[in-house]
Amino acid sequence: MTNRIAVLLHTPAHSQIAGALTYLSQDALAAGTLVRVPLGQRELLGVVWDAAPVDDASGSMDPSKLRPVTAALHDLPALNAHWRALIAFAANYYQRSPGEVALAALPPQLRDLSSVQVARRLKKTALARAAKDQHSSTEEANTPPQMTTELVALSQEQTGAIDQFHAHPGPFLLFGATGSGKTEVYLRCCADLLGGSDHAQVLVMVPEINLTPQLEERFKARFAEQYGPLAVVSLHSGMTPAQRLASWLGAHCGAARIVLGTRMAVFASIPNLKLIVVDEEHDPSYKSHEGARYSARDLAIYRGRLEGIKVLLGSATPSLETWYHSRPPQEGGRYLRLHMPSRIGEHAQLPLVRRVDMNHQPKGCVVSPPLLAAMMQRIAAGEQCMVFLNRRGYAPVLTCDACDWKSNCPHCSAYRVFHKIDRTLRCHHCGLTEPVPRACPDCGNPDITTLGRGTERLEEQLALLLSGVTRPDGSAVRIARIDADTTRLKGALQTQLAQVHAGEVDVLVGTQMIAKGHDFRRITLVAAINPDGALFSSDFRSPERLFGLLMQAAGRAGREASATCRSEMWVQTFLPTHPLYEALKNHDYPAFAQSQLNERQLAGMPPFCFQALVRAEARTQEAAQAFLNLASAASAHLPECAALQAHITLYPAVPMSIQRVANVERAQMLVESASRTALQRFLSAWQPVLHDQRHQPECKGLLRWAVDVDPLLI
Ligand code: ADP
Ligand code: ZN
Ligand code: ZN
Repeated sequence: MTNRIAVLLHTPAHSQIAGALTYLSQDALAAGTLVRVPLGQRELLGVVWDAAPVDDASGSMDPSKLRPVTAALHDLPALNAHWRALIAFAANYYQRSPGEVALAALPPQLRDLSSVQVARRLKKTALARAAKDQHSSTEEANTPPQMTTELVALSQEQTGAIDQFHAHPGPFLLFGATGSGKTEVYLRCCADLLGGSDHAQVLVMVPEINLTPQLEERFKARFAEQYGPLAVVSLHSGMTPAQRLASWLGAHCGAARIVLGTRMAVFASIPNLKLIVVDEEHDPSYKSHEGARYSARDLAIYRGRLEGIKVLLGSATPSLETWYHSRPPQEGGRYLRLHMPSRIGEHAQLPLVRRVDMNHQPKGCVVSPPLLAAMMQRIAAGEQCMVFLNRRGYAPVLTCDACDWKSNCPHCSAYRVFHKIDRTLRCHHCGLTEPVPRACPDCGNPDITTLGRGTERLEEQLALLLSGVTRPDGSAVRIARIDADTTRLKGALQTQLAQVHAGEVDVLVGTQMIAKGHDFRRITLVAAINPDGALFSSDFRSPERLFGLLMQAAGRAGREASATCRSEMWVQTFLPTHPLYEALKNHDYPAFAQSQLNERQLAGMPPFCFQALVRAEARTQEAAQAFLNLASAASAHLPECAALQAHITLYPAVPMSIQRVANVERAQMLVESASRTALQRFLSAWQPVLHDQRHQPECKGLLRWAVDVDPLLI
C-alpha cells in the first residue's frame, strides 16, 4: 500500500472537510477514477482527485490512520481533466465544496452499484453500440447511408447565421424571433460538428425537458437514423435512476453522440464534446436553487472556453446579461450576435399586440368586453385562444368583510390560496392544506368572500361568459386549464398538451407555464389578463421577466396563422402607455433591452455590477439577521477581506420578501462589487468567517445558510 491518493467525497455542505481526503491504494490510481472508500462506518463513492496528497511529514496526519481504498471502478474510464476542471471551477465560483459538486454531478445510482454491476451496465452499452455499428456497416456495403428525412431549404437568415457560426469561434447568441427557425439552426450546427469527426459529441440544453418533448422528438427524428437510436440520450431529473445512469454511461463512453438535458446536463461527462447549445438561454430554470446555486448557462460558456469548443445560446428574448455580452465587439462585446428577425413561412407575421386600457372598462371586470368579443369571434371561426394569469387556484385570498380576517398561512408570511375544486385553503410556500372554514375563524361571520382571481376561477368565469358561443359545427366551447394543479400527476401535462394540439380544446387557460416554449399551431389569440403586477415588484429583474414572458406568449400565437385574420396578443393593463408595453407592441426587444440596460447602468445594477446573496434561515428573524450582520462586521478584521473592502459593498441584513416559510425565518444580505474577481476573492476569504459565526450566542437557532452567487431573485 504505497500509493497515497486524494479522493473527493460528498461530505455535508458545512462540514469542515472541504477538500479531498487521503487514502491508500495498492495501484497508482489515475485522477478521475471512481472509487469506493470507507468514511467512518460508511462506504462512499468518491473521485480520485488531482490534488497532491497532504504531506504528513508535518505530523498532521498519522500514516497508520490512513485507510485503504475499498475498490476502484476500473472498468469505467476515468473522468477527464476537462470535467475535473469544470467541477473545480464551479465549486470555487459558487462557494461550495468540490466533493459536493462532483458527486452531485454523477448519476445517483453509481453510488449504489458495485464495480461488477457497473461493469455489467457498461457492457450493455458497449454491446448495443457494437450491434449498431455492425448493422450500419452491413447496410453501408449495400446502400450508402441515407437520410430519409427530407431537409428543408434554409431561409436566408438561417444560412447567414450558420455561415457566421462556422466562421467564428463564438460564443454565439442566436437572437431569433419565435418561429424564426432557431431549432433548425441548432440541428444544422450539431449535424455539421457531428459529421466533423468520428466520435464528436454535442450537448443541447433546454430549460425544462418535460415542457419540450417536441425538441427531443426533432433531434431523434434528425439523428437517430444516421447515428443509431442510442446516439440521442436525455438527462433530466424526471428520469428513473436506471435511465439516468444509462444515459450518463452512454455519454461518458462516447456511445451517445447527442446529449439533451436540463441544467444538470452541463456537468455530464462528454469526453468528445464539440458544441454546447443552450436553448431559451434567458430561462430562469437554468439557475439551480439548491446545493450549489450554479447557472448552467454561465457554466456552459465556461465549459466551452475550457474545452476550446463552440457555445451557441439561443433566445427571442435574451437575458440582459447575454444581450449585453453580445454588444458589438468594438464596444467590448464578447459573444457574437446572430440575428434572425423574421418568422418562417407564408403567414409569418408576428401577432398584432392590442392593449386594453382597463381604466376604461367596466369596474371589476376580469375579461374586458372587447377581449371577450374577440375570443368569441375566434371560437366561432374554429380557432383556439390562450388566456394566462400568473396565479393558480381559485382566488389568492379568502377574507371576512366583517372583521377583516384574511386566509393567512399560520406558518408563513403569505396568504393561503383558495382552491374551489376541493374547497381547500392551500399555502403555495409550505404546502399546508386545510378545508375552508365554514365561518370566519375570528368573528364567526358565515359570509367569507374571495379576493382576487386565480386560474381556477378564471376558467369558471370564462365558461360562464362563453356559454352562449358555439363552435363552427354547432357544439359547445371546450375550455381546458393547465397549471401546477392540473399537471401534478406524471404524464398529465403531456396528455393535456396533446389535447390542445389535437384541437380538442378551444380556450386554454393557465399560468405562465403555458406561455413557455410550446409550439401551439392553432392558437391565434393569446391574452394576458393582469400582467401589471410585475411592473411594481421590488425585484429589478421583474420587468425583464415580464417582457420575456409576454414576447414568448405572443410567439405562441399564429405559427400557422388564422384563415380569417392576423393573430393577436391581448394585454389588459391599467398602464397602456408604459414603455414596456410600447416595446412589446413593436416586438422590439432591442429597444426594451436598451432602456433597461440604461436604467441598470444608472443604478449600478447587473450586468454593470456583480452580486452575491447570503441567505440565512433561523428559528427567529433576529438570529438570522444577527448571523449575517456579525459575519459582515467580522470581515473587517480579516486581512484578506479588509484589503478588498474598497471594492465591496456589504448591505445590512434584511428579511426576505417572504420572510417566514414553514415557521422558519429567512433573512438575506447583499454583497456587491464592480469587479467579479474582487467579489470572488472576497467570498472565498469570507467563507471561514461565515462558518465561525454559527457559534456566536446571538446566532442561536440558526438553521442553515448559503451563498448564492449571481442570484436571479433578489
Ligand atoms: P424557433 O425555435 O425559432 O421558435 P423553429 O425552429 O421551431 O423556430 O421553427 C418554426 C417552424 O418552422 C418549425 O415548424 C420548423 O420546422 C419550421 N422551419 C424551420 N426552418 C424552416 C425552413 N428553412 N423552411 C421551412 N420551415 C422551416
Ligand atoms: Zn370575521
Ligand atoms: Zn405556509
